[in-house]
Amino acid sequence: MSKRVAVVTGANKGIGLAIVKGLCKAGFNGDILLTARNEKLGQDAVAGLKSEGCKNVIFQQLDICDQGSSLKLKKFLEEKYGGLDVLINNAGMAFKHSATEPFGEQAEVTMRTNFWGTLWVCHALLPILRPNARVVNVSSFVSKKSLDQCSSELQAKFRNKDLSEEELCLLMGEFVQAAQAGDHTAQGWPNTAYGTTKIGVTVLSRIQARVLTETRPGDGILLNACCPGWVRTDMAGSNATKSPEEGAETPVYLAMLPEGVKEPHGQLVWDKTVQEW
Ligand code: NDP
Repeated sequence: MSKRVAVVTGANKGIGLAIVKGLCKAGFNGDILLTARNEKLGQDAVAGLKSEGCKNVIFQQLDICDQGSSLKLKKFLEEKYGGLDVLINNAGMAFKHSATEPFGEQAEVTMRTNFWGTLWVCHALLPILRPNARVVNVSSFVSKKSLDQCSSELQAKFRNKDLSEEELCLLMGEFVQAAQAGDHTAQGWPNTAYGTTKIGVTVLSRIQARVLTETRPGDGILLNACCPGWVRTDMAGSNATKSPEEGAETPVYLAMLPEGVKEPHGQLVWDKTVQEW
Protein backbone atom coordinates (compact mmCIF):
# COMPACT_ATOMS: atom_id res chain seq x y z
CA MET A 1 0.00 0.00 0.00
CA SER A 2 1.26 3.53 -0.81
CA LYS A 3 2.45 5.80 1.96
CA ARG A 4 -0.18 8.25 3.25
CA VAL A 5 0.31 11.94 2.53
CA ALA A 6 -1.11 15.28 3.68
CA VAL A 7 -0.79 18.68 1.98
CA VAL A 8 -1.06 22.01 3.83
CA THR A 9 -1.07 25.23 1.80
CA GLY A 10 0.47 28.53 2.96
CA ALA A 11 2.32 26.68 5.70
CA ASN A 12 5.56 28.65 6.06
CA LYS A 13 4.09 30.66 8.94
CA GLY A 14 1.01 31.42 11.01
CA ILE A 15 -1.85 28.95 11.25
CA GLY A 16 -0.58 26.85 8.32
CA LEU A 17 2.73 26.17 10.06
CA ALA A 18 0.89 25.33 13.29
CA ILE A 19 -1.39 22.95 11.35
CA VAL A 20 1.63 21.04 10.01
CA LYS A 21 3.04 20.82 13.53
CA GLY A 22 -0.39 19.83 14.88
CA LEU A 23 -0.76 17.02 12.33
CA CYS A 24 2.68 15.76 13.25
CA LYS A 25 1.96 15.86 17.01
CA ALA A 26 -1.44 14.22 16.43
CA GLY A 27 0.43 11.28 14.91
CA PHE A 28 -0.49 11.59 11.23
CA ASN A 29 0.98 8.39 9.89
CA GLY A 30 2.50 9.50 6.61
CA ASP A 31 4.37 12.38 5.02
CA ILE A 32 3.16 15.93 5.64
CA LEU A 33 3.91 18.28 2.74
CA LEU A 34 4.49 21.78 4.07
CA THR A 35 3.85 23.92 1.01
CA ALA A 36 4.69 27.58 0.51
CA ARG A 37 5.06 29.87 -2.48
CA ASN A 38 8.50 31.03 -1.33
CA GLU A 39 11.00 28.15 -1.37
CA LYS A 40 13.42 29.64 1.20
CA LEU A 41 10.64 30.45 3.70
CA GLY A 42 9.21 26.96 3.23
CA GLN A 43 12.56 25.19 3.63
CA ASP A 44 13.35 27.24 6.76
CA ALA A 45 9.96 26.31 8.25
CA VAL A 46 10.61 22.61 7.56
CA ALA A 47 14.06 22.85 9.17
CA GLY A 48 12.49 24.46 12.26
CA LEU A 49 9.88 21.71 12.58
CA LYS A 50 12.45 18.96 12.09
CA SER A 51 14.50 20.43 14.93
CA GLU A 52 11.34 20.13 17.08
CA GLY A 53 11.08 16.43 16.26
CA CYS A 54 8.66 16.53 13.30
CA LYS A 55 10.59 14.12 11.09
CA ASN A 56 7.88 13.38 8.53
CA VAL A 57 7.59 16.96 7.16
CA ILE A 58 8.69 17.65 3.58
CA PHE A 59 8.74 20.92 1.63
CA GLN A 60 6.98 21.35 -1.71
CA GLN A 61 6.60 24.65 -3.54
CA LEU A 62 3.01 25.76 -4.18
CA ASP A 63 1.71 29.17 -5.18
CA ILE A 64 -2.05 28.73 -5.05
CA CYS A 65 -2.53 31.60 -7.53
CA ASP A 66 -0.48 29.76 -10.16
CA GLN A 67 -2.50 26.93 -11.70
CA GLY A 68 0.67 25.39 -13.12
CA SER A 69 2.07 25.14 -9.60
CA SER A 70 -0.96 23.12 -8.44
CA LEU A 71 -0.69 20.80 -11.45
CA LYS A 72 3.01 20.26 -10.72
CA LEU A 73 2.14 19.29 -7.16
CA LYS A 74 -0.55 16.94 -8.43
CA LYS A 75 1.99 15.19 -10.67
CA PHE A 76 4.44 14.88 -7.77
CA LEU A 77 1.74 13.38 -5.53
CA GLU A 78 0.62 10.93 -8.19
CA GLU A 79 4.16 9.78 -8.93
CA LYS A 80 5.44 9.58 -5.35
CA TYR A 81 2.30 8.57 -3.41
CA GLY A 82 -0.33 7.52 -5.95
CA GLY A 83 -2.95 9.83 -4.39
CA LEU A 84 -3.72 12.23 -1.55
CA ASP A 85 -5.15 11.56 1.92
CA VAL A 86 -5.43 15.00 3.54
CA LEU A 87 -5.69 18.44 1.93
CA ILE A 88 -5.79 21.56 4.09
CA ASN A 89 -6.42 24.72 2.07
CA ASN A 90 -5.08 27.26 4.53
CA ALA A 91 -3.30 29.86 2.35
CA GLY A 92 -5.07 33.19 2.35
CA MET A 93 -4.57 36.94 2.53
CA ALA A 94 -6.26 40.09 3.73
CA PHE A 95 -5.51 43.76 3.21
CA LYS A 96 -4.78 45.68 6.40
CA HIS A 97 -7.40 48.23 7.53
CA SER A 98 -4.79 50.90 6.77
CA ALA A 99 -4.37 49.76 3.12
CA THR A 100 -4.72 52.58 0.60
CA GLU A 101 -5.49 50.50 -2.51
CA PRO A 102 -8.96 51.25 -3.95
CA PHE A 103 -11.67 48.85 -2.74
CA GLY A 104 -12.14 47.40 -6.24
CA GLU A 105 -8.46 46.46 -6.38
CA GLN A 106 -8.59 44.95 -2.88
CA ALA A 107 -11.62 42.90 -3.92
CA GLU A 108 -9.92 41.57 -7.04
CA VAL A 109 -6.63 40.69 -5.32
CA THR A 110 -8.26 39.11 -2.25
CA MET A 111 -10.66 37.10 -4.40
CA ARG A 112 -7.78 35.83 -6.57
CA THR A 113 -6.02 34.28 -3.57
CA ASN A 114 -8.76 33.27 -1.16
CA PHE A 115 -11.38 32.03 -3.61
CA TRP A 116 -9.84 31.39 -7.02
CA GLY A 117 -6.54 30.10 -5.60
CA THR A 118 -8.34 27.67 -3.30
CA LEU A 119 -10.58 26.57 -6.18
CA TRP A 120 -7.59 25.94 -8.49
CA VAL A 121 -5.83 23.82 -5.86
CA CYS A 122 -9.04 21.83 -5.43
CA HIS A 123 -9.48 21.37 -9.18
CA ALA A 124 -5.98 19.91 -9.33
CA LEU A 125 -6.03 17.79 -6.18
CA LEU A 126 -9.60 16.65 -5.43
CA PRO A 127 -9.53 14.18 -8.37
CA ILE A 128 -6.64 12.29 -6.72
CA LEU A 129 -8.20 11.99 -3.25
CA ARG A 130 -8.01 8.47 -1.91
CA PRO A 131 -10.95 6.81 -0.13
CA ASN A 132 -11.39 8.16 3.43
CA ALA A 133 -9.55 11.37 2.51
CA ARG A 134 -10.17 14.53 4.55
CA VAL A 135 -10.32 18.03 3.06
CA VAL A 136 -10.37 21.19 5.17
CA ASN A 137 -10.90 24.62 3.63
CA VAL A 138 -9.85 27.32 6.09
CA SER A 139 -12.61 29.92 5.87
CA SER A 140 -13.63 32.23 8.71
CA PHE A 141 -16.45 33.17 11.07
CA VAL A 142 -16.36 36.39 9.05
CA SER A 143 -18.01 34.44 6.20
CA LYS A 144 -21.10 33.97 8.36
CA LYS A 145 -21.09 37.59 9.53
CA SER A 146 -20.71 38.79 5.92
CA LEU A 147 -23.50 36.48 4.74
CA ASP A 148 -25.81 38.13 7.27
CA GLN A 149 -24.88 41.52 5.75
CA CYS A 150 -25.86 40.45 2.20
CA SER A 151 -29.25 41.36 0.70
CA SER A 152 -31.92 38.72 1.34
CA GLU A 153 -31.75 37.80 -2.35
CA LEU A 154 -28.01 37.08 -2.15
CA GLN A 155 -28.41 35.26 1.16
CA ALA A 156 -30.98 32.97 -0.44
CA LYS A 157 -28.58 32.23 -3.30
CA PHE A 158 -25.68 31.44 -0.94
CA ARG A 159 -27.90 29.20 1.21
CA ASN A 160 -29.42 27.40 -1.78
CA LYS A 161 -28.50 23.72 -1.41
CA ASP A 162 -28.57 23.28 -5.21
CA LEU A 163 -26.21 26.16 -6.06
CA SER A 164 -23.56 24.92 -8.52
CA GLU A 165 -19.86 25.71 -8.51
CA GLU A 166 -20.31 27.58 -11.81
CA GLU A 167 -23.06 29.75 -10.30
CA LEU A 168 -20.91 30.46 -7.24
CA CYS A 169 -18.00 31.49 -9.49
CA LEU A 170 -20.30 33.88 -11.36
CA LEU A 171 -21.43 35.42 -8.07
CA MET A 172 -17.83 35.93 -6.89
CA GLY A 173 -17.06 37.57 -10.26
CA GLU A 174 -20.12 39.80 -9.95
CA PHE A 175 -18.95 41.00 -6.52
CA VAL A 176 -15.54 42.03 -7.89
CA GLN A 177 -17.14 43.83 -10.84
CA ALA A 178 -19.53 45.67 -8.52
CA ALA A 179 -16.63 46.57 -6.20
CA GLN A 180 -14.69 47.96 -9.14
CA ALA A 181 -17.72 49.94 -10.29
CA GLY A 182 -18.15 51.25 -6.72
CA ASP A 183 -21.74 50.06 -6.34
CA HIS A 184 -21.35 46.73 -4.52
CA THR A 185 -23.37 47.86 -1.47
CA ALA A 186 -26.17 49.12 -3.74
CA GLN A 187 -26.19 45.66 -5.31
CA GLY A 188 -26.66 44.02 -1.92
CA TRP A 189 -23.08 42.99 -1.19
CA PRO A 190 -21.39 43.53 2.18
CA ASN A 191 -18.71 46.21 2.35
CA THR A 192 -15.92 43.69 2.91
CA ALA A 193 -13.66 42.13 0.31
CA TYR A 194 -12.17 39.56 2.71
CA GLY A 195 -15.56 38.60 4.13
CA THR A 196 -17.05 38.06 0.68
CA THR A 197 -14.14 35.87 -0.43
CA LYS A 198 -14.70 33.76 2.69
CA ILE A 199 -18.44 33.46 1.89
CA GLY A 200 -17.10 31.99 -1.35
CA VAL A 201 -14.85 29.51 0.49
CA THR A 202 -17.63 28.33 2.84
CA VAL A 203 -20.19 27.94 0.05
CA LEU A 204 -17.61 26.26 -2.20
CA SER A 205 -17.02 23.72 0.58
CA ARG A 206 -20.74 22.97 0.83
CA ILE A 207 -20.91 22.44 -2.94
CA GLN A 208 -17.75 20.30 -3.06
CA ALA A 209 -19.02 18.08 -0.24
CA ARG A 210 -22.34 17.59 -2.05
CA VAL A 211 -20.56 16.70 -5.29
CA LEU A 212 -18.27 14.23 -3.51
CA THR A 213 -21.29 12.57 -1.91
CA GLU A 214 -22.91 12.26 -5.34
CA THR A 215 -19.87 11.18 -7.33
CA ARG A 216 -17.99 9.07 -4.79
CA PRO A 217 -20.64 7.53 -2.55
CA GLY A 218 -19.19 4.97 -0.20
CA ASP A 219 -15.65 6.37 -0.38
CA GLY A 220 -15.93 7.90 3.08
CA ILE A 221 -14.40 11.25 2.09
CA LEU A 222 -15.21 14.17 4.41
CA LEU A 223 -14.80 17.81 3.30
CA ASN A 224 -15.49 20.80 5.53
CA ALA A 225 -14.84 24.51 5.89
CA CYS A 226 -13.63 25.78 9.23
CA CYS A 227 -12.83 28.86 11.23
CA PRO A 228 -9.61 28.74 13.25
CA GLY A 229 -10.84 31.51 15.58
CA TRP A 230 -9.14 34.88 16.01
CA VAL A 231 -5.47 33.98 15.91
CA ARG A 232 -2.26 35.92 16.60
CA THR A 233 -0.57 35.88 13.18
CA ASP A 234 0.78 38.45 10.74
CA MET A 235 -2.74 38.63 9.31
CA ALA A 236 -4.71 39.25 12.50
CA GLY A 237 -2.08 40.94 14.68
CA SER A 238 -1.00 40.54 18.27
CA ASN A 239 -4.32 41.42 19.95
CA ALA A 240 -6.03 38.26 18.72
CA THR A 241 -7.13 35.81 21.39
CA LYS A 242 -5.67 32.49 20.20
CA SER A 243 -2.14 31.26 19.63
CA PRO A 244 -1.41 29.71 16.21
CA GLU A 245 -1.38 26.28 17.93
CA GLU A 246 -4.88 26.91 19.30
CA GLY A 247 -5.97 28.14 15.86
CA ALA A 248 -4.75 24.89 14.33
CA GLU A 249 -6.87 22.72 16.64
CA THR A 250 -10.10 22.69 14.59
CA PRO A 251 -8.38 22.21 11.19
CA VAL A 252 -6.30 19.35 12.62
CA TYR A 253 -9.39 17.80 14.27
CA LEU A 254 -11.20 17.83 10.90
CA ALA A 255 -8.17 16.44 9.07
CA MET A 256 -7.81 13.59 11.58
CA LEU A 257 -11.49 12.52 11.72
CA PRO A 258 -11.18 8.75 11.98
CA GLU A 259 -12.17 6.32 9.26
CA GLY A 260 -15.84 5.32 9.40
CA VAL A 261 -17.01 8.66 10.79
CA LYS A 262 -19.81 10.11 8.61
CA GLU A 263 -19.91 13.73 9.77
CA PRO A 264 -19.30 16.62 9.78
CA HIS A 265 -19.34 16.88 5.99
CA GLY A 266 -20.01 20.07 4.01
CA GLN A 267 -20.19 22.16 7.19
CA LEU A 268 -18.61 25.31 8.59
CA VAL A 269 -16.90 24.17 11.80
CA TRP A 270 -15.64 26.50 14.52
CA ASP A 271 -14.18 25.36 17.84
CA LYS A 272 -14.86 21.78 16.66
CA THR A 273 -18.59 22.66 16.52
CA VAL A 274 -20.79 22.81 13.42
CA GLN A 275 -22.14 26.32 12.78
CA GLU A 276 -25.52 27.08 11.30
CA TRP A 277 -25.18 28.53 7.78
P1 NDP B 1 -0.72 34.67 7.68
O1 NDP B 1 -0.75 35.95 6.92
O2 NDP B 1 0.09 34.56 8.91
O3 NDP B 1 -0.30 33.47 6.71
C1 NDP B 1 -0.88 33.34 5.45
C2 NDP B 1 -0.15 32.25 4.71
O4 NDP B 1 -0.75 32.11 3.41
C3 NDP B 1 1.32 32.58 4.48
O5 NDP B 1 2.09 31.41 4.57
C4 NDP B 1 1.32 33.12 3.06
O6 NDP B 1 2.56 33.01 2.39
C5 NDP B 1 0.30 32.18 2.46
N1 NDP B 1 -0.14 32.63 1.14
C6 NDP B 1 -0.73 33.79 0.78
N2 NDP B 1 -0.91 33.82 -0.56
C7 NDP B 1 -0.42 32.64 -1.04
C8 NDP B 1 -0.32 32.07 -2.32
N3 NDP B 1 -0.73 32.72 -3.41
N4 NDP B 1 0.21 30.84 -2.45
C9 NDP B 1 0.63 30.16 -1.36
N5 NDP B 1 0.60 30.66 -0.13
C10 NDP B 1 0.06 31.88 0.03
O7 NDP B 1 -2.26 34.36 7.98
P2 NDP B 1 -2.97 33.33 8.98
O8 NDP B 1 -2.04 32.25 9.35
O9 NDP B 1 -3.63 34.14 10.01
O10 NDP B 1 -4.13 32.78 8.04
C11 NDP B 1 -4.22 31.45 7.58
C12 NDP B 1 -5.64 31.22 7.11
O11 NDP B 1 -6.55 31.38 8.21
C13 NDP B 1 -6.11 32.20 6.04
O12 NDP B 1 -6.89 31.53 5.09
C14 NDP B 1 -6.95 33.20 6.83
O13 NDP B 1 -7.89 33.85 6.03
C15 NDP B 1 -7.58 32.27 7.84
N6 NDP B 1 -8.10 32.92 9.03
C16 NDP B 1 -7.25 33.57 9.91
C17 NDP B 1 -7.75 34.16 11.04
C18 NDP B 1 -6.87 34.82 12.05
O14 NDP B 1 -7.40 35.35 13.06
N7 NDP B 1 -5.55 34.84 11.87
C19 NDP B 1 -9.20 34.13 11.36
C20 NDP B 1 -9.99 33.40 10.40
C21 NDP B 1 -9.44 32.83 9.29
P3 NDP B 1 3.65 34.23 2.38
O15 NDP B 1 4.38 34.16 3.70
O16 NDP B 1 4.50 33.90 1.20
O17 NDP B 1 2.86 35.50 2.23
